[in-house]
Amino acid sequence: MHVTVVGGGIVGVACAYYLSQEDIDVTLYEKSRLGAGSTGYGGGIRTQYSTPANVILSIESKRVWDDFEDEFGVDIRHRPTGYLFLAREEDTAEKLRADVEMQNELGVSNEFLSPEEATAYCPELHAEQFVGASYSPDDEFVDPHLALQGYADAARGAGTDVREGVEVTAVYQDEGGTVTGVETTEGRQVTDFVVNAAGAWAGDVAELAGINIPVKPTLRRLLLVEPAESSPETLPLTMDLDGGAVFYPEDSEVMVISGHTETLVEADPDAYQSNVDLPWTTDVLEGVTELAGYFGPDTEVRDSITGLYALTPDQNPIIEESIPGFINAVGFSGHGFMHAPATGQIVSELVVDGTASLADVSEFSSSRFERGATTDEQNFI
Ligand SMILES: Cc1cc2nc3c(=O)[nH]c(=O)nc-3n(C[C@H](O)[C@H](O)[C@H](O)COP(=O)(O)OP(=O)(O)OC[C@H]3O[C@@H](n4cnc5c(N)ncnc54)[C@H](O)[C@@H]3O)c2cc1C
Repeated sequence: MHVTVVGGGIVGVACAYYLSQEDIDVTLYEKSRLGAGSTGYGGGIRTQYSTPANVILSIESKRVWDDFEDEFGVDIRHRPTGYLFLAREEDTAEKLRADVEMQNELGVSNEFLSPEEATAYCPELHAEQFVGASYSPDDEFVDPHLALQGYADAARGAGTDVREGVEVTAVYQDEGGTVTGVETTEGRQVTDFVVNAAGAWAGDVAELAGINIPVKPTLRRLLLVEPAESSPETLPLTMDLDGGAVFYPEDSEVMVISGHTETLVEADPDAYQSNVDLPWTTDVLEGVTELAGYFGPDTEVRDSITGLYALTPDQNPIIEESIPGFINAVGFSGHGFMHAPATGQIVSELVVDGTASLADVSEFSSSRFERGATTDEQNFI
C-alpha cells in the first residue's frame, strides 16, 4: 500500500511517522521546506479545553510529548509553566468550572480557582476584575522545531520518502471517486491514500479532490516584549478568556503577548502581511496591562510574529476519510501542534483499519457543519 502525505508541518510528519511504522510505503510532499508553514510559531501544550473530544486528543498527544526523548531521542525542551485561564463573567466562570469537572473525569488534575488563589501562580495578576479561574500545572511549552525534526528524522528512518520543494498539484480519482494518484511538480505518483495535512492551504488541497471544507487561513499575531517589571520564566500562560488578552514567558527577559482585539482576519497563505500596525499593538499592550502588573508604559516591544491559524467555524479540526482514499487532517484552529501526535496515530488507524480506536473522531467529521451539530471550543487562544 502507498500513502501520499501532503504537507511537511508537524501534522504531516507525525502522520508519515505513524504510517511508516505499518507495512506502508509513504511519500511526504512539502512544497517548500519542512516546517515552512505554521509549525514553529508555538509549542504550547494544554489539556484545558471545553470539549471532551479535544481533551482526549490532548491526553493521547501528551503521552507522546512526555516520552518524546525516549521514543525519538530528541530533547524537545519541556518548560512546564502551566496555563491559567481567567473569567470576568459569571457565565464564563461557570463554564470553566464545568470544564474542570469534565477534565478531571477524563483523568487530568486541573483545578478551578478563585481569582485570589490564582495569584499564587501569577503574583502580579490584577485579580479584582475576575470572578473565577482554571489552572493546569501540567500544561507547558516545548520547542516545536525540535519536535518537527524528531518526527521527520524518525519518519525518514522508518522509510518515508520526504520530498521537499515538491508541490502536489492534482488528485486523480477513478470513476467511482476513489483516489488513485496525485500529480506533483516532479511527476505523477500512484497512491492508495492521500492525507491532506496542508495546514492553512488545506482548503486548496481538498479542492483538488473536489472536496469543499470550511477551513480558513486566518492571521494570528504575537508581540515579543520586554516587560516593565522583571518576570519569572516560570509564569503560566495567562489568558483573560472574556477579553482575549494573553501573555506567556518566552525566557527570563522576553514575554509573548497577544489578544483577540478585532474580528479574525482572513489571509492569503502565500501573500499575507507579516507586520503589525500601531493600533493593534496598542490594543494588545493595553489588554495585557489591564491583566497583570508586568506591563505598563515602559514595556518595550522587541519584535512581532505573524502566522496563520487554519480556522474552522467551531475551532475544532476535521479528521476523517472524506471520500474513499482521501483523509483530511486539517483545521486545527491554533491547536494543531499539540494535537499532532494523536492525529498522526488516528490517521494511521484510518488507513490501516478504516476506523479510529484512539479517540472517537465522529466529533471531527466535516458533516457536522451541514448538520448544524457543531460544539464551539470555548477555550480559544
Ligand atoms: C502564532 C501562532 C502560534 C501558535 N501557537 C500554538 C501553540 O502554542 N500550540 C499549538 O498546538 N498550536 C499552535 N499554533 C497552531 C499550530 O502552529 C498549527 O495548528 C500547526 O502548526 C498545524 O500544523 P500543520 O502541519 O497542519 O500545518 P503547517 O505547519 O502549516 O504545514 C502545512 C504544510 O503544507 C505545505 N503545503 C501546502 N500545500 C501544499 C501542496 N499542495 N503540496 C505540498 N505541500 C503543501 C505547506 O508548505 C506547509 O509547510 C500556533 C499558530 C500560530 C500561527
